[in-house]
Amino acid sequence: MRYATQFGGFILAISAMSGSLEGYTSFQNQVKGTAVPSRWAGATVAWRLNPAKGPNVDTTSGHDPIPVAAAITKAFQTWQQAALNGVAATQLSVTRGPDTAVTDSDMNDCTNVISFAPSDAVSFPTGTVAITTVSTAYGPVPSAYACRSRTGTRVYQTTLPSQIVDADIMFNPHEQFSTSTPALPGHFDLQSIATHEVGHLLGLDHDGIAHMMMYPFGDTGASQQRELGTDDVLGIAFLYPAPGFFARTGTVSGKVTSAGSAVFASHLVLVDKTTGVAVMDGLSAPDGSYRLVGVPPGRYKVLALPLAGAYSLQDFGGWACGFAQDAAPCCDPNADTQCHGKVSPVLTSYNATFY
Ligand SMILES: [Zn+2]
Repeated sequence: MRYATQFGGFILAISAMSGSLEGYTSFQNQVKGTAVPSRWAGATVAWRLNPAKGPNVDTTSGHDPIPVAAAITKAFQTWQQAALNGVAATQLSVTRGPDTAVTDSDMNDCTNVISFAPSDAVSFPTGTVAITTVSTAYGPVPSAYACRSRTGTRVYQTTLPSQIVDADIMFNPHEQFSTSTPALPGHFDLQSIATHEVGHLLGLDHDGIAHMMMYPFGDTGASQQRELGTDDVLGIAFLYPAPGFFARTGTVSGKVTSAGSAVFASHLVLVDKTTGVAVMDGLSAPDGSYRLVGVPPGRYKVLALPLAGAYSLQDFGGWACGFAQDAAPCCDPNADTQCHGKVSPVLTSYNATFY
């Protein structure tokens, strides 16, 4: 009924990119054989801050520094206020709850904690600046879901077939952060990193386009970004659309094949023919098909790239196993009946193709 996904923040040594039939990037679970995106029910999310911070978080130096809570609030507002060509994209509703003393992610307590003071029990892979854990309940609707914490158990009914029930963000206590504008040299810009991690908390996976917020690589200093890219906006709109938002957009669809065979998990990038800018990306499904939904009016070409080099399907969280943890390549179809034999091996040996 549930699985947990853990995402590293910027600068994963080998990291992921996008993934979703709809373009951009949302977590996927398999429900009755169909991939469905995971999101919060009712487009409402509440978060709590553990106000404890170490000396690695600088909120007093540089130009116009702000408190940690203000930077985190701006990160959530960036997603809540996402817009395309001046039109509001999402009806997301985010609120800040009371502060908490919880330091480490607890994926069962249904409390979304943002912590700068994780204990030594939390392991940050080399080069990982922050970690977001996302816990999802999936199955028939409604289902009883039990939130368990030290103060007791609370049971409620899920309303979505793949519903996020808990997400926590932990910042690496061994990295330097700053709330100055721009960030201090050698420091990560707290608001930029928080905005990326909040994207995960809201249900977005990584993006393969370099100028997008959900691109998994970044650096310290002034080079970081606090603003969303087009694909980020479309991703959050897909999960929590403002009324009528998608009536103003189109769909690009097709099928990726190689020598007549379907190609699973081809990285598709939609490029604006006029500007040459990549505006959206996604992955092909196990049958090779893809649909990029929410495309703004314009003329485009689709670039189909192999999943190779810095990227690997294994880095995708909800996509790594072909929509489900019980599918290949996460288990051997010949040895494990749970694989259902639905997912073909990922083909990475073909060349990039323009359509
Ligand atoms: Zn990330």
